[in-house]
Order: sequence, then C-alpha cells, then structure tokens
Amino acid sequence: MECEICGKEIKGSGIKILVEGSEVTVCHACKNLGTEKKVSKASQKGVKRVLIRKRAPSTAIEFTDELLENYNKIIKREREKKGWSQEVLARKIQEKESLIRKIENAEINPEPSVIDKIERLFNVKLREKVPEVKIDLKKGGMTPTLGDVVVIKKKKSN
Ligand SMILES: [Zn+2]
Repeated sequence: MECEICGKEIKGSGIKILVEGSEVTVCHACKNLGTEKKVSKASQKGVKRVLIRKRAPSTAIEFTDELLENYNKIIKREREKKGWSQEVLARKIQEKESLIRKIENAEINPEPSVIDKIERLFNVKLREKVPEVKIDLKKGGMTPTLGDVVVIKKKKSN
C-alpha cells in the first residue's frame, strides 16, 4: 500500500483523510495535509467525494410599478367625471396643461411623481405591481480538483 500523496510505502494500514473533499489513503507523515476521516463502515456512503463550490444561480423577484395600459383613459375619464378641463386638472396637481394633454394622449410617459399626484387626486390606481424575475447568470466558482495531489504523486521515485 502506498501513500496517495507522497507515494511512500505505508507500513501497516494507511490513514484515510479528506483532501479537498476527496478521500485519500496516506501515510502518517501526510495525514496532516487533510482532514482525518473517522473510519466507519457507514461513513463511506455519506462521503462527499468532490467539494462543489458551484453556486446555484441566484434568482430574485422584484416588483416594479408598471403603468396600466389604459392609464391615460382612466385619467381622462376621472377628470371628465369631475367636469374638469385639462387646465383645471393641471392646476390641481401643479403641472402644465400641456403635460396633462400629452399624458391623456399617451404621448409621453409621465413621471412617477405626476402619477402619484393624479392617483391621490382621483383615488385611483394607475399602476400595478409587476413581478420581475431577475436571474443572476454569473458563473459560480471552479470545482476544485485533486490536481495538487496528482503533481506530488508524479514525483515519486521507486
Ligand atoms: Zn505520505
């Protein structure tokens, strides 16, 4: 029986240790290079042979406010319900009349602050929360190999 790290003949039984998650049988001199493994018959099954550091892609769901498709029509409808002209509405929320006209014609995407004011004024919802799944596609870490151990083994001289 040879030590799997230094390649020397092991007198007696070798010591099983874990190096980077892999089990190797080594001599007494090399046992400190890894974690000594408690020898038991049941342990064999549960041994993690390769330490996987690969990170699972992290997913996150973020909610974003999205304007309703017909937000401009809702504004127009609410305004007309009150019998206000665009000018009146503009004054109520301290914006320009031209802005109201553009919003109602869906010519522009109104600022969230303007939407806030209109929502509060008419007590309506012009936005809905839309879940957005963001997937982090960044690659995880490398899977460690026993490369170092192999290099040492090659140096063995008979
Ligand atoms: Zn050794």
